[in-house]
Amino acid sequence: MDLDLMTRRDAALKAIENHRIVPLGHFIGGDTVKGVGQSYDVLEPATGQVLGKVRDSTPEETEAAVSAARSAFLEWSRTPPGHRRQILNKVADGIVARADEIAAVECLDTGQCWRFMSKAAIRGAENFRFFADRAPAAADGQMLPTADHLNYTSRSPIGPVAVITPWNTPFMLSTWKIAPALAAGCTVVHKPAEWSPYSARLLVEIAHDAGVPPGVFNLVNGLGETTGKRLTEHPDIKAVAFVGESSTGSAIMRQGAATLKRVHFELGGKNPVIVFEDADLDAALDAAIFMIYSLNGQRCTSSSRLLVQRSIYDAFVEKAAERVRKLKVGDPFDPATEVGPLIHPRHLAKVSSYADIATSEGARIAAGGAVVQGSEGYFFQPTLFTNATQDMRIAREEIFGPVLTAIPFDDERDAISKANDIDYGLAAYLWTRDLERALRVSDALEAGMVWVNSENVRHLPTPFGGVKASGIGRDGGDWSFDFYMETKNVALARGTHTTPRLGL
Ligand code: NAD
Repeated sequence: MDLDLMTRRDAALKAIENHRIVPLGHFIGGDTVKGVGQSYDVLEPATGQVLGKVRDSTPEETEAAVSAARSAFLEWSRTPPGHRRQILNKVADGIVARADEIAAVECLDTGQCWRFMSKAAIRGAENFRFFADRAPAAADGQMLPTADHLNYTSRSPIGPVAVITPWNTPFMLSTWKIAPALAAGCTVVHKPAEWSPYSARLLVEIAHDAGVPPGVFNLVNGLGETTGKRLTEHPDIKAVAFVGESSTGSAIMRQGAATLKRVHFELGGKNPVIVFEDADLDAALDAAIFMIYSLNGQRCTSSSRLLVQRSIYDAFVEKAAERVRKLKVGDPFDPATEVGPLIHPRHLAKVSSYADIATSEGARIAAGGAVVQGSEGYFFQPTLFTNATQDMRIAREEIFGPVLTAIPFDDERDAISKANDIDYGLAAYLWTRDLERALRVSDALEAGMVWVNSENVRHLPTPFGGVKASGIGRDGGDWSFDFYMETKNVALARGTHTTPRLGL
């Protein structure tokens, strides 16, 4: 390990030092709460060592966090939006100032690679800046006049909201929920994933240092079945913004039913990248490889199904296999590393089980397919399955690791049918030089987002989200404000209409 690598890892350990010695608790009403709940271990994915301990919040601690959010709501929702903009831009400044530290903590805690995490921290700041600058217009509505009435709409923040996030890129993902919620005037209780709690603690500290008032942004740690469940059932939580697995989304919908919770779900995916024979094949290969093997394959929008036209299938997958074998697997802190470890031994067991499933289903393992030996960390070889068919589990289930399943298709109709024949519908990628075909196929794809001749390049004003089992609702631009705000219509009579008269 060279000095730089040592320095980054040390910086990460230093950043979370206090919270490792004493189990990491919560942040409620502007104060650190050590917590008295059960504690559990957090593991370092690259080494398998115990990084620290975290406390599951008790019912009283969850209640205190919701109560703090409820008490702070009135004042925060009435804070002039220009002032909210100022504070949230300061949060963005704070993130930028500590971006290296955040990236290092993310590498340590999640095993995500430095080369991606250094950008993810900055993207978190951009999310805050984007929604901060839109805060003054968030309440704006429409003018919908008729001959007899002047109708106008306006929006107001819905109330305290829960933000529940997963472990794959925890810092960046949480900012694109928390930033619009705060910009809209909502107060927040955030519950990060139990396997990756540390960067959330940095965010809440940065927010308070930037002037977010006590109670406006609270953090509770804990397990999904306890802390998460209580939050989603709480009558004072008006909406739940959730990112995670589809089955957890269903559970949250059930848990929130009694209190008629508004929900926003960003769930799983099994996203196709469709490569037609007329495409720029080199560019398509680069994008397909990038979209599945970056972020250790733990990416909701990963291109986990490679659909290639039969005429070019053999040559294309052979080239893909060569690239996959050359991917640099290793220490996430090393800037040269392209694929790091998986998050947890349980997840490693799940991902690696698909190698046996692939073989038993009759697919071929063209690259990888095994746990990396000689490390205590949770490394799985970048893997490519070929000769797959649509009915196989490797073609239908979200594996959420550095694992790509390649399937041939015959023509446009077959490509669309295979792309859509799946429970999920988050993203789809399409490679062709035929513009008319690009338009036809984009229209036919059952996905919330389609990228044509591109990997996933996020533009914050555009809607982000999925259809079918991949989610409900959209993030980004004004869509985010629609979720965190209630719309009201006011109808003002011009004095020209006649009210029907009854009971004369
Ligand atoms: P998960 O569903 O297991 O957990 C996500 C969060 O939900 C965690 O904080 C967890 O503690 C909490 N949780 C679990 N059970 C709960 C319950 N009953 N009530 C309330 N909260 C509960 O997901 P994960 O394994 O952490 O993350 C991986 C999943 O996230 C993948 O399926 C991936 O596709 C998805 N994901 C989707 C997007 C998207 O934008 N669509 C982005 C990133 C990740």
